[in-house]
Formats: sequence, structure tokens, C-alpha cells
Amino acid sequence: MHNLRTAALALFLVMLTLIPAITGHSAPLAQEFDLTPYQQSVASDAAIPAEILYPPFFKEIDAINLKNIYREIRSRFHFFAGLRLEPSYFNCYKMQRRIDKALERMIADKGELPFSSLDDRLLYDQKSPLEPYLRPMPLKSTGNCTFKSFGDLRHGGIVYCAYHGPDVNGSFYNEHFAEISQARPLFTSFDMVELLLFLPALLILPFIWWISKKALQKDQPASPESQG
Ligand SMILES: [Zn+2]
Repeated sequence: MHNLRTAALALFLVMLTLIPAITGHSAPLAQEFDLTPYQQSVASDAAIPAEILYPPFFKEIDAINLKNIYREIRSRFHFFAGLRLEPSYFNCYKMQRRIDKALERMIADKGELPFSSLDDRLLYDQKSPLEPYLRPMPLKSTGNCTFKSFGDLRHGGIVYCAYHGPDVNGSFYNEHFAEISQARPLFTSFDMVELLLFLPALLILPFIWWISKKALQKDQPASPESQG
């Protein structure tokens, strides 16, 4: 009877030590960030998505409507007033460069990236393995910003925003400039404003030329003195 009680107590003590060991070990495993979806191989010959060639943001500002024409005129006014304001969407490219820097830091630390693609979840999840390298944290310049990657990040893939597209000063943009300009319309709100502003000037030019010609003709006989 005494032995049985001791055995039960011993079993109880063993259970007490084992339960936290089991649950304590399995809990962090369940919480770990699952990188599997980000480790799948990415096709190197994939077609460039439309959101890179002609991002939704540019579609919006290129459309010929009153709002865009007003914005274009205002930006020219700023330019002539000497205010070289950086377009607000450049802030998104700055954030994309922050992500690039974080990837560089991770490569420097780990030797290579443990993933081939990224998205907002990999960037903003507290448990993401990339999280410690995101200093300063890349912020979203608009509510529409969605960070993504194109191509294999371990082999020349790029980070871009599904709303603003890739950095217009980046190497990818320069390398694919022909395809990118082909995907965009020939006549945009920018061209519309150029036409509105310069067409009157072009129409006035022949008139100015005619006036000055007349004035010169009038001046010539009035100044016959030679300075010899
Ligand atoms: Zn963006």
C-alpha cells in the first residue's frame, strides 16, 4: 500500500515535470514563422506583371481629367516658382530601398536569404525572420501600398510596390525602360497640360515675329549713320 502510494506520487511528479517540457517545447514551434511559401522556386523567365509595367498609381495620374490637369498645372507653377518638390510617390521608392538594405543586412549576417520572395506578411509579421533587419522600418506612404517581389530575390529579383511600381531611378526600371514605356499611353494628362500651355505660345510666335520685323523695317531708314 505504501509502495503504491509512493509510485503514484513519483508518477505524478514525473508528469508535473514532463507536461511543461512537452507544452513548453511545442508552443514556440507552433508560433514560428512559416517560410515555406516564400521558399518556392520562382520562374526566371516569368513575364513582367502589369503592375510593374504600368502601375495603378500612374494609371490614375495619367488619366485626362480635371483633377489631373489641375495637379499638372500646379506642379509647373511650383517648378517655375523654384520649388523643386520631390513627388510624393518617391517616398514609396525610399521605403523599397529600406527593404533592399534589410535584405543586404540579412545576407551579410546569414550568408544568404532564407527565402526567394517576399510580401507584406513577411515584412510586417513580428515573428518574421527579416524583422530584426528592418531598421528603420519601411512604412507605407499610402494605404494602397503593397510590397511584393518579382523574380528570385536570391538571384537578382526585385522589391516593388503593387501600387507605385518599382523605383523609377532603380536599375530594373532602366533595364526595362523600353517595355515600360510601351505599356504606357502616348498621350497623358502631362502631355495635355503641355499642349494647353504651349499651344498659345506657338500661336503667338508668328505674330511676335511679324511685329518685330515691322519694327526693324521702321528702324532701318531712321538710323543711316555709319560708324566708320
Ligand atoms: Zn507604394
